[in-house]
Amino acid sequence: MTDAKVGELTTGGAGVGWAASGRSVPPTPIARRVAGIPANPFAAADARVAAAQAAGRDVIDLSKGNPDGAPPDFMVRAAQKAAADPANFRYPPFHGKPAFLRAAAGWYRREHGVDIDPATQLLAVAGASVGISVVIQALVDPGDLVVLVGPYYPQYEGSTAVAGGRVHVVPALAERGFLPDLDAVPAEVWDEAKLLILNYPNNPTGAVATPELYADAVRLAHEHRFVVVSDFAYAGIGFDATPPISLLETPGALDVSVELCSLSKMYMVAGWRGGFVAGNAEVVAAATAVHEQTSLLVTSIVQDAGAAGLDSDQSTVRELAARYRSRYEALRDGLANAGLHLAPSHGGLFAWLPVPGGWTDADFSAWLLEHAGVAVIAGSDFGPTGAGYVRLSLLVPREVLASAASRITVARGTAW
Ligand SMILES: *Cc1c(COP(=O)(O)O)cnc(C)c1O
Repeated sequence: MTDAKVGELTTGGAGVGWAASGRSVPPTPIARRVAGIPANPFAAADARVAAAQAAGRDVIDLSKGNPDGAPPDFMVRAAQKAAADPANFRYPPFHGKPAFLRAAAGWYRREHGVDIDPATQLLAVAGASVGISVVIQALVDPGDLVVLVGPYYPQYEGSTAVAGGRVHVVPALAERGFLPDLDAVPAEVWDEAKLLILNYPNNPTGAVATPELYADAVRLAHEHRFVVVSDFAYAGIGFDATPPISLLETPGALDVSVELCSLSKMYMVAGWRGGFVAGNAEVVAAATAVHEQTSLLVTSIVQDAGAAGLDSDQSTVRELAARYRSRYEALRDGLANAGLHLAPSHGGLFAWLPVPGGWTDADFSAWLLEHAGVAVIAGSDFGPTGAGYVRLSLLVPREVLASAASRITVARGTAW
């Protein structure tokens, strides 16, 4: 073996080893920021399901957020045509193809009555996840405060950790329909906050925003100078007579907020990776600066097919919302036989279930997997305010949800 130089990387065993030497060298070349990143709870849930299946169990997997349907045919055809178009062999423009950005602006105008300037108030991104990440990078310096409403989508906390920010969680409790009371948050918290992240229709609770909630958020953002970020990944996926509203419909919202939209859930193309950031031009410009150094571009084919979806009459999205609603109702009625009562839902892809008295959400989800062969996500994976609940996915057919509920009914015995 040759003498390793100080600081030289040696590979060995399970990973990277730092060559031994008498000199003082960092114990690892990995950035400190990485140690602060929370584990992805969905990866841990996937591992539990895989282990149960490897042990020969027949598992109904209600832990995932992966849409189970197919995009509308016209979008698949648009993608096929786009793949063959020589113009798409070249790099597309950094902030998005003009036709895609125009389609996004047209969608906002028709669906939400909001006027957005495609040139300054929109950025194409490879999914709302990328939008969340670049907006947080654009707004949060190390030590800065991000206000979340709990239970929350885990990426908000993870992306804040990557930026070195801190999190303050405002609870959204059942007695308020899982909507937060923003006026109950101390003024000092708002004074410190760089941004507030909202998500309606909500993952995991199924709550939808009221105009009053958005008006409160926009007023506080004006008063205390922070940015409101709306994760609108479930745009169009509402269960009530009136469709879910956009934050940008709120008077004054364009001064203080941005919204993240996604093709993934509206059009069932989660694997294509498309979406956009819309709203305040200064924030969009900052997010674009970060994006140009990190993600750079969105696949031209996805932008063309996405434009076809956004330009359409959205009837496929309404059908999808009706399908999820009927699945929610099948699950609700089935679980009632097991003495379990879903929280009311107004939209989104998930059902939110209070666990029976005397159980923790971790124990209850482990029990469901072990005794009923049904995989769910424990509510605490959405932060401490999710404790006492589990999340069940609506992204399997109605019959599968009904049989999950009957399995639980049969397995229940005297467990609760
Ligand atoms: C799926 C999802 C996202 C991410 O969507 P992509 O556009 O696929 O990145 C963001 N927020 C919520 C609440 C989601 O469920």
